[in-house]
Amino acid sequence: MSGHDDVIEKLARSTVRLQPPKRVRDAAKVQDYDGWYESWEADPDAFWKDAAESLHWFEPWLRTSEIALPQHQWFVGGKTNLSYNCLERNIERGLGDKVALHYESEHDPSRAFTYREVLTEVSRIACALRSLGVGKGDRVVIYMPLGPMGIFVMQACARIGAIHSVVYAGMGAGALRQRIEDCGARVVVCSDATYRRGKTVNLKSIVDDAVAGLDGVEHVLVHKRESATVLQSNREVDLEALVSPQPDECEAEVLDAEDVAFILYTSGTTGKPKGVVHVHGGFAVGVHLLMRNYFDTGEEDVWWSTSDIGWIVGHAYICYGPMLVGCTQVIREGTPDYPDSSVVWQTVAKHGVTTMFTAPTTVRMFMRMGAESLEPHDRSSLRMFYCAGEPFNPEAWTWAQENIVEDGFVADNYWQTEIASPMLGTFACMDAKPGFVGKPMPGVRLKVVDHEGESMDAGEGGALVMEQPVPWMMRSVWNDPDRYASYWNRQLGGYVTGDIAVRDGEGYWAVLGRSDDVLNVSGHRIGTADVESALIEHDAVVEAAVIGIPDELKGEAIKGFVVLHQGRHGSADLEAELKHHVRHVLGPIAQPAGVSILDSLPKTRSGKIMRRLLKARELGLDEGDTSTLED
Ligand code: AMP
Repeated sequence: MSGHDDVIEKLARSTVRLQPPKRVRDAAKVQDYDGWYESWEADPDAFWKDAAESLHWFEPWLRTSEIALPQHQWFVGGKTNLSYNCLERNIERGLGDKVALHYESEHDPSRAFTYREVLTEVSRIACALRSLGVGKGDRVVIYMPLGPMGIFVMQACARIGAIHSVVYAGMGAGALRQRIEDCGARVVVCSDATYRRGKTVNLKSIVDDAVAGLDGVEHVLVHKRESATVLQSNREVDLEALVSPQPDECEAEVLDAEDVAFILYTSGTTGKPKGVVHVHGGFAVGVHLLMRNYFDTGEEDVWWSTSDIGWIVGHAYICYGPMLVGCTQVIREGTPDYPDSSVVWQTVAKHGVTTMFTAPTTVRMFMRMGAESLEPHDRSSLRMFYCAGEPFNPEAWTWAQENIVEDGFVADNYWQTEIASPMLGTFACMDAKPGFVGKPMPGVRLKVVDHEGESMDAGEGGALVMEQPVPWMMRSVWNDPDRYASYWNRQLGGYVTGDIAVRDGEGYWAVLGRSDDVLNVSGHRIGTADVESALIEHDAVVEAAVIGIPDELKGEAIKGFVVLHQGRHGSADLEAELKHHVRHVLGPIAQPAGVSILDSLPKTRSGKIMRRLLKARELGLDEGDTSTLED
């Protein structure tokens, strides 16, 4: 029924188990997964109290939670600050001179920042923002590549209680504009450029396009990396010139646990992105807890996540998580295959990376490059190698276990922008079953249900539902309470993830794909509706439909179908122009691999486009039930 019967059957037949090597098992922070999970079940209040006590609270909370769904609050009445917890708290614990951040890039020299230096940088930017009148609750959109400056600006916002909304610096002008408008940002902070595969990518021109005519944007702060960049209008300010005269200290704002820390937009099914809202308290508690006990990373570790600050992983496990636990982290601006296929392993060896986080698509890329590119490099420091973002195919998983980690362990984990930290994962103390993500985090109680909300048995696929909230998940959708409420479905009995899943008799869960019209391209969620509306914006197009087609490297690739206005004629040039148009509006990750021009789209009698049929035709599969097809 789930549409994934083949995969479910294959999983049921699979007997592959991978055991963590002894050194991984011995070092695991959680030695007894069942015992840990059960300690939460036995006394949730005591569990959360314990988890929260590692952090700094300016004032203690009164109750661990208050739940009246769809609303839920955590550490109620507590006063805290995410940035204070990352910086002052660790400096007070004696970590001031420890390196917090190693920065690598294909363009700029390597740099390192200690915890104390990060605090100084963040404080200056925070003072600079305050000098412009930015304060608690104000929205700041950040359009910057992965680098120290992007992280510092995020932390500076958190420090003064401003709400950051990072837009991935690869999204197009249309997507950026839509997000600036939706959150009502007063300030946009951007870099003028980033560097990819030896090329300079001009970000400033995208920002110029995006903010043109948006009067609500009072200031555009520009981090200048290119000497040729000229600031134009009065509202454009040179970020470094504004920041350098500022004082080194900026007291952190005392915030309520439930005050909003950030908004992060993600694709949905309507063509309008959802501004997922996360708060200071529960987010900090969850990320800190799981960075240590799931990602197995403590002060002694060197962490590297290859994600980007534009995604949720970059919020939870680049900007905040590593500094919450006081470890050293590596960040690298650039693609993992440039200047050549060995750059990732050189970086691992250079810094002695112990725990690493990447995406299945990157593993598949390494697989394609071949094990030879790994061989000359010492990877013996790697203890844990985590993957998330899309289904991790067993072939890539097993390849990574056999070829990437020498005496380490590969682990899948599953979560989403809305949840901000894992729901499921393979732990360092448990066997891995490739194809299955693993087991739930404490606090997470899941079920698989059919359309009516009936629970399915082990081995049966259906909708994945989380029965109760966790502290680290979203609190709302910005400006759209109805859309937020619709995640909580009474009939289905909880928070609807939008994913199809199956569990086995041993309590391992597999997540098979989306149940809605959302695609997953290289681990990035893209709504078919977003791409369709971008196509329709083009003056030649009257109707558009988009499907995902399997792609060996990216997991899924985008294929578009369009119907043209009368009088417009299809050509290879027009197809190329349409692909380029989507790239301009939404950014390179949303660019279709192909666009076909049709005379009409298959529709139901009620007028709904049958994407399922387009997909079957494209892939040469059985067309299934076509009884509702219009003549
Ligand atoms: P995003 O919010 O962009 O991070 O995308 C989240 C979506 O990616 C989830 O709802 C899943 O569809 C998919 N996803 C993330 N991690 C996994 C995983 N480990 N296995 C299968 N699907 C995943």
